[in-house]
Amino acid sequence: MRTNEERAQLRHSAAHLLAHAVVELFPRTQLTIGPATPDGFFYDFLPEQNFKEEDLPLIAQRMSEIVARNLPITHREISKTEARNLYKDNPFKLELIDAIPGDTVGLAEQGNFYDLCKGGHVEHTGLLTHFKLLHISGSYWRADRNNQPLQRITGVVFFTAQELAEYEKRIEEAQLYDHRRLGKQLDLFSFHEEGVGFPFFHAKGKKILNILTSHLRSLLEKDNYQEISTPIMLSDELWKTSGHYAHYKKNMYFCDIDDKSYAIRPMNCPGSILVYKSRPRSYRELPLKLAEFGLVHRHELSGVLHGLFRVRSFTIDDGHIYCTVEQLETEVVKLIGLITKVLKRFSFTDLYIGLSTRPENSMGSDALWEKAIHALRDGLEKTGTPYHVQEGEGAFYGPKIEFVIQDSMGRQWQCGTIQVDFFLPENFDLNYVASTGMKERPVMVHRAIYGSFERFLAILLEHFKGNLPFWLSPVQARILTITDEQKPYAQAILSALKEHNISVELDESRDQISAQIKAAQLEKIPWMLVIGKKEVETNTITLRHRDGKQEFGLSVEEIIKRALALNAD
Ligand SMILES: [Zn+2]
Ligand SMILES: [Zn+2]
Repeated sequence: MRTNEERAQLRHSAAHLLAHAVVELFPRTQLTIGPATPDGFFYDFLPEQNFKEEDLPLIAQRMSEIVARNLPITHREISKTEARNLYKDNPFKLELIDAIPGDTVGLAEQGNFYDLCKGGHVEHTGLLTHFKLLHISGSYWRADRNNQPLQRITGVVFFTAQELAEYEKRIEEAQLYDHRRLGKQLDLFSFHEEGVGFPFFHAKGKKILNILTSHLRSLLEKDNYQEISTPIMLSDELWKTSGHYAHYKKNMYFCDIDDKSYAIRPMNCPGSILVYKSRPRSYRELPLKLAEFGLVHRHELSGVLHGLFRVRSFTIDDGHIYCTVEQLETEVVKLIGLITKVLKRFSFTDLYIGLSTRPENSMGSDALWEKAIHALRDGLEKTGTPYHVQEGEGAFYGPKIEFVIQDSMGRQWQCGTIQVDFFLPENFDLNYVASTGMKERPVMVHRAIYGSFERFLAILLEHFKGNLPFWLSPVQARILTITDEQKPYAQAILSALKEHNISVELDESRDQISAQIKAAQLEKIPWMLVIGKKEVETNTITLRHRDGKQEFGLSVEEIIKRALALNAD
């Protein structure tokens, strides 16, 4: 295993290699900086004429030639006077030299190429074979828009050909299975100028959201949640009490009703709190668990919007648990069980669980924090799930457990949070009547499993590469007939399957069977039920799976039995 430092040296050396190739090809280019990044490297240039995408292969080819020269990479300290002389025509380097403390600066050299640099390289250019230039983009000197615009060339480099090949495959897959592309191909959702950042779900997309909702709803009912629904617009006073007005105002949308200012909710918590406060609560009601599939709106800059990953309106599978601090541990155990169960259904079994503890400048007493963190920790220990303590990373109003999943392409996503909150019960003066008859303050827990349905759907689409599991597919089966003569038989099968709530369609086109199969494959429908003359005669069905595998002579009862088994939790 290579260390991060070794990787950084390789990447930074590749940046020198890039600059070396560029000055050989375009000698009047001014060099600025070329650091290693967490993923690769870049170099910022001021070229005489702007680089074009077509220049990249040319530059890459020259880089390979320099690699083949096997030039030793050396590094030495030179006096600032000498350095200023070397760079007398390069204001960027002169500025860098001035900023370096002391009388000397570092200089890296390979062949007749040199670059101002504090060191940390591989031994020779021959070690830089496995690189790839990615793109040209605009940048600014010292990343400041008021400064000289520059051109950045970005690349990646690896120690082995295999690592580079794996990287290229990952990038290719990520593009191929981009959820925005799949969303169009599978007719799930779209975006429109008329509502920038607000997703439109088509029938099939909505169907998947409904399946996700009912999957969760059935589990919540078993765990004594009560589902509520609260308004998406609430008056400013409420948002002042909740603290959103002070801290989140720039991300909220406002609107007047009868001369009074309202905000569209960016979170569902205050609505839940008003339900809690609608009547006196007794300790006998605790833990009180209120769930809401709540639509929220948050203003995001148009530049950061990204398909369903980053939108301006989304639905959270929100849940708020009101309990005593003593009940926290039991609730945490239940929540961990619930969250891991839900995620497992989507084949997310490789979970990273983080416990974030008390940060500086937090609110609430030491005793309360102590008890709450104990409860979370003991809960985690009890379930036997491995977890990592993230010291001091909790919110100022309470500790948190977060769940991070890993998808089929090795990417990590945070899904599932258990957030303890001492702040809102205080601000909204929440209480319950304890067994002693005294009023006590409950603790509040915010929890979400999917987080945002929109983002979770995007993760699922990419994770499954569009091949959603049978139970999650908006169309589970499509019946295809060879000729119209088989339509009456096909209709009978259609009715029988629908009777059992299986999502089934009949291909009504008069296309050739091969075209019908192709269409179903493009839509990634799990089952094709193929009916020809022989199937009608023998009262059977040929089942063609999404991957092309076929099973012959199945009865309609067998098909229904299998479908129901797959649909069952
Ligand atoms: Zn260097
Ligand atoms: Zn909440």
